[in-house]
Amino acid sequence: MIQGPVRLSRAEAITVRKHRGRGRARAEVHGLGRPGEYRDISLQEPLEGVSSTLARLDERPLRAELRAESVMEGILITGEVEVEASVRCARCLREFSSDLSVELCELFVAPGHEAPGEDPYRVRGTEIGLEPMLRDAVTLSLPLRPLCKPDCKGLCARCGTDLNQGACGCVDEETDPRWADLDAVREMLRERSG
Ligand SMILES: [Zn+2]
Ligand SMILES: [Zn+2]
Repeated sequence: MIQGPVRLSRAEAITVRKHRGRGRARAEVHGLGRPGEYRDISLQEPLEGVSSTLARLDERPLRAELRAESVMEGILITGEVEVEASVRCARCLREFSSDLSVELCELFVAPGHEAPGEDPYRVRGTEIGLEPMLRDAVTLSLPLRPLCKPDCKGLCARCGTDLNQGACGCVDEETDPRWADLDAVREMLRERSG
């Protein structure tokens, strides 16, 4: 399904169309205007398959308020992306929802221009594919070690009780590493004498 051109900020500067095929966010760019010309893009797109060990995106679509600006080298996309993620606490494994907000500033290099960096986003023909950029930015913003609260007590390593709900009564039998050598000597002496 192709949606008609979104409202232009400046007539015929840059025309952006939103294509919705397989959830891919693209912007079609007709005839780049002079540097400085821009238009704004509002996106509400599902972004599927973005996840990390302890986080994945909520099913609700991400919201993006972007500006596509014509610059010498291509098109500069700036703006903000907001998305909700379902994350799991790294200590107690409780699942909760977390709002992520990502600032974007990415250059899409136009054909015939030198690209900075190793694998730049490119203007392909009259189109820029926004999805890889959104995917990269959102993936990088997923929390690596989410916590349900800063002082989450986590789970008992022995019985698995959620220690936020109260103590479990397990006795902590961990030996102090400073005594480990002494224990070894004691063991050795006992073997000799025995
Ligand atoms: Zn927790
Ligand atoms: Zn326990």
